Parts: sequence; structure tokens; C-alpha cells
Amino acid sequence: MCGVFPMDQNEVNAAMLILLRKRLTSAELRTTRVSGTLSCTLNMVLAIPASLIEKLDSAASVETVEASEITIRLRHVVTRGGSGESQLSPLYAYTLQGRSIEALERFYSMIQEEGCKADDVSFVSVLNACSHGGLVGKGRQLLDEMPKQYGVKPRLEHYVCLIDMLGRANLLDEAVRVLRAMPFEPDAVVCTSLLGACRKWKNYTIGKLAFERLVEMDPKSGTPYALMANIFGNLGMLSERAAVVERMRGEGSFREPGRSWWTDVSSGKVHSFSVGDRSHSQSDEIAAKLKQLLLRMKEEGYASDVINVLKDIPEEEKEDHLCGHSEKLVLGCALVNSHQKETIRIVKNLRVCDDCHAATALISKLEKRLILCKDASRVHVFQDGRCSCDNYF
Ligand SMILES: [Zn+2]
Ligand SMILES: [Zn+2]
Repeated sequence: MCGVFPMDQNEVNAAMLILLRKRLTSAELRTTRVSGTLSCTLNMVLAIPASLIEKLDSAASVETVEASEITIRLRHVVTRGGSGESQLSPLYAYTLQGRSIEALERFYSMIQEEGCKADDVSFVSVLNACSHGGLVGKGRQLLDEMPKQYGVKPRLEHYVCLIDMLGRANLLDEAVRVLRAMPFEPDAVVCTSLLGACRKWKNYTIGKLAFERLVEMDPKSGTPYALMANIFGNLGMLSERAAVVERMRGEGSFREPGRSWWTDVSSGKVHSFSVGDRSHSQSDEIAAKLKQLLLRMKEEGYASDVINVLKDIPEEEKEDHLCGHSEKLVLGCALVNSHQKETIRIVKNLRVCDDCHAATALISKLEKRLILCKDASRVHVFQDGRCSCDNYF
């Protein structure tokens, strides 16, 4: 993968931009192009995140690591080959750690004290920081100031950040107003972000708008159907949910099969699981561990999210189906094979489901483990029963 170096600054920035837009699925990453001045095929930059994300993710999980240290590591990565330092790096490091106030402070000190010129990529970063920190007022203000004060014309990515920010804050009506008023055609990223927010806040009216738009864009993509069915299911609107599932089947929509990976750091062996996978040599041991955990989880009030199982299987089999999700299997494998003090790092190709998310959070508490899960949406850091994403994913 080192063959991609050296890269010019635009390519570095493009890679950063993509990392910040982590809502893109791996399939989308392969087919999308970054437009405008940051033109660069994603096939090329796809090679960068593997090393970059690995370094950042591991650092982001440890709160005691200073952002400046991560920045140095990041600079090391992006400047190998002699290209210049990205002024976005420090901002990105803070944003990734969810340290929104520090990201803003860094942004202003770069401009006011170090004489850096804010560019469109640094605005994506700082707006992301505002979104993650719930700093809606500041985010609105920055988007407004971009062209007037900094001479940077907002692009679709900046509106995506604002809509994401509003969605997170349950300001869904305002998010729709921004979506309709922005001078760009809404793309799949922004509509999926809005639909995800509607899922979080159980708003089916606005969710339906985003859903229909997404189906119009790509009727074969399974994600919108899954999210919409999830909204109806969580609201107890079971006939509406059934209609969405029916439509999904009628369209022959496709979801990439789920797969999760865990690397055993002591042996270097990579363990990989698909849904319901029984091919692992320790399958029985893993199943026993998960069964024992499920009993303890139920004592803590956990209930399987059977309502959101879209598979056409009998009700009584739905809990078993959830237990067979790839991220649960891989987590079981990691628990069976790793030391108590070891951080468990899992990678999943799709967005983690609600049930696995809730289960992993609880398992982090019951087993006293730090668990990192990088899915198609973000990095989740599970510790003591909670996740760093605050259940917004
Ligand atoms: Zn799951
Ligand atoms: Zn999470």
C-alpha cells in the first residue's frame, strides 16, 4: 500500500475529507469521486485510510493521549514522501476524539495566531466537531461566516455537516428546511444522514421523505429500507413496517452480507465471521460464551431487539438469529481468546445493528473490557456499559 506515496496536498486533503465523511459505505467509496478542486479517484485514497485510521483509531480510544501526539503521528503518515503538512491534521485529531471545544480552539488559533488560511476542508473538520459536540449555534454561525469572513464558498459537504448537526440535535424540521434551501441537489449521504436522525428520534414523517428520495436514487440499496423499517418497527407501526419489507423484497434490493473481523494481537491471527457462521474451530466454545453472557445480560434488563429482524423467520428463532450476527460471534471469539486487560478491536463492513450495539455496550460492562468497533459509519468505543457515539450512528 506504500505505493500511493508521495501524494500531493490535494490528495491528502481529499483523503481527510473522505475520512470525515465516514458515512460512505465501502461500496460507495469504490465508486464515488471527490469533486471540484479535490479531484482524486477514491481508489487511490482508499489505500491511505487503512494505515491512517489504524493509527488514529488506536489513539482515539485512549483519552490520556494528547491530540498533539496523534497529530504528530498523523503528520508522519501524511507527509511520508515529502509532501507538505496538512493544516487539517490537528483539527482532525481533535474531531476524531470528539474533543469539539479543543478542535474549535485549534481552528481559531491556527487562523488568528499562526496565520493559516482556513480552507474548505478545515471547515468540514470544524463543522464535524460542532456536530459531534452538539454545538449547533456555533455550527450555524461558522457556515454563515465561511463566505463572508473567510472567503470560502460552502460546498455540499458543509451542508451535509450542518444537516447532520441539526439531525443529531433533533432539529429535524430545520434540517429539512436547510436541505430544501441549499444550492445543491441532496445526495445519498445527506439523505441517509437525515434518515438516520429520524431513526434515532423516531420521526417517521420526515424519515419517509428521506427514504423515498433514497429509493428514487437507488432502489436496490438495502440500507434505506432497513432504516425505514426500523423506524416503523420502533414505533410499533407493524403494518407500515411490513409494507417496507415487502417493497424491499419486491425491488430485489441488496445489502452487502455482514462480516466482522478481530485480530488476535498475541498470535497475529485474523478471525473472521459472517452471519450465523459455524465454521470456526472454536464455534462451540464461542456459542457457550455468548449463551452465558445472554443470561447475564437479561438479568441486567437486556431484551433482544427482535422487532427489527427483517428476515422472514418464525418469531421464536429471531433471538437466535440476533445471537448469530457476525459482530457478536467475533466478540465472543475475542472474549474467549484474549486477556482481560487487552483492548478488543473489531472491524465490521456494515453499520452495526441496534441489537449488537446495545449488547456490546452491556458486555463491555459485564466483562470489564474496552471494546472498539469500527463499522461502516464510525468508530464506537464501548466502555463500562456505554458507547462513545451516545447511540447516534
Ligand atoms: Zn447485529
Ligand atoms: Zn456506538
